[in-house]
Order: sequence, then structure tokens, then C-alpha cells
Amino acid sequence: MLKVDVKDLKDRTVVLHVDERPDFFDLSDKDFLFIDRVRGDVEFQRLEDEIIAEGHLRTTVRTHCVRCLNAMQLTLEPEVHLLYAHDRSLLSSEVVVEMGTEVPIYFDGEAINPRDDFRELILVDLPNFPVCSQNCKGLCAQCGANLNREPCRCQQKVEKSTETWKRQLRNIKIGRRDVNQSK
Ligand SMILES: [Zn+2]
Ligand SMILES: [Zn+2]
Repeated sequence: MLKVDVKDLKDRTVVLHVDERPDFFDLSDKDFLFIDRVRGDVEFQRLEDEIIAEGHLRTTVRTHCVRCLNAMQLTLEPEVHLLYAHDRSLLSSEVVVEMGTEVPIYFDGEAINPRDDFRELILVDLPNFPVCSQNCKGLCAQCGANLNREPCRCQQKVEKSTETWKRQLRNIKIGRRDVNQSK
């Protein structure tokens, strides 16, 4: 159970040690398989009426490279910067602009249960276009060759057809010469 009691924050910060299975956060996505526990440390600190949570989380997902379609693993390390407020007037956007932080999350003033907030940070950290490497050359759209491992076969085809074309051109020229010679 991930929970921080506000009375524990009276004169000190509380560090929440996160070490949970992905199911705990209800983590599932059609393109990503969560294969590791979610771990991390998040420090909760009280500022007047608001509570600030800062730290990081870490987990691993399995997915496929969008360029070459190879299976790959990815480490997610979302940063945690959250602001909790129980005074509803603080939740208005003007106050947020003044404080220069993100929109506060409402809590009842007694305890914070950050499970859903952490879940959201993890899901937002999933890339839209995961690549196995920034240099991944991907697949040829024409012949499907994995360009990281093999040369594209289209190029060979182009060369072959160029040769054929040259040969045909030669034949035509020869033909013309023949016509000229016959004159
Ligand atoms: Zn790739
Ligand atoms: Zn090709």
C-alpha cells in the first residue's frame, strides 16, 4: 500500500520506497509489456498546506522497434514532481500560474495515496515511437530487408534493370549501325 500520512510530515520529510509489481499499478498497454517491478524513491515534503512529492520511478518494458520491428527492452525512468493540495481554492489555474508549478492534485488533507498519480507518470513516459537504436536503419519499404543486417535487395534490382537497359540500348545502336551499314 502506497500511502503517506500528513501527520508524519509535520516536522520532517517522508521518503516513500516504491517496490511494487506492475499489476499493483494496473499497468498494461497494447504495445508494451511491463516485465519488471516498479521501483524508486519519492520524497514527500510539506509546504504550508501543500505537499510536494519529488523523486523518480523506474521499470522495464518489452516492445518492438517501430523501424525494424525487432523485439527490444526499454527502461522507463519517469521523474516525479507532484503537488498535492487539499484547499480547493489552490486548485484554480490562476494560483497554479502564480506558483509556477503543475496543477495540484486534490487530496483530503489527511493522507496521500499516490498510486494513480504514479501510474499516470509511468504511462506518459512510454514513447510513441520506440526505436532499438537512434541509428536503426529500419526495413526497406519495398523489399522488407532489415537494413541493419543486410543490403537492400531493391538496389540490386535497380542495377540489374539498368544493365538490361544498357544492353537494350546497345542493341538499338548496333541495330542503327546495321541500318546505316546496309545503306
Ligand atoms: Zn530498430
Ligand atoms: Zn529494398
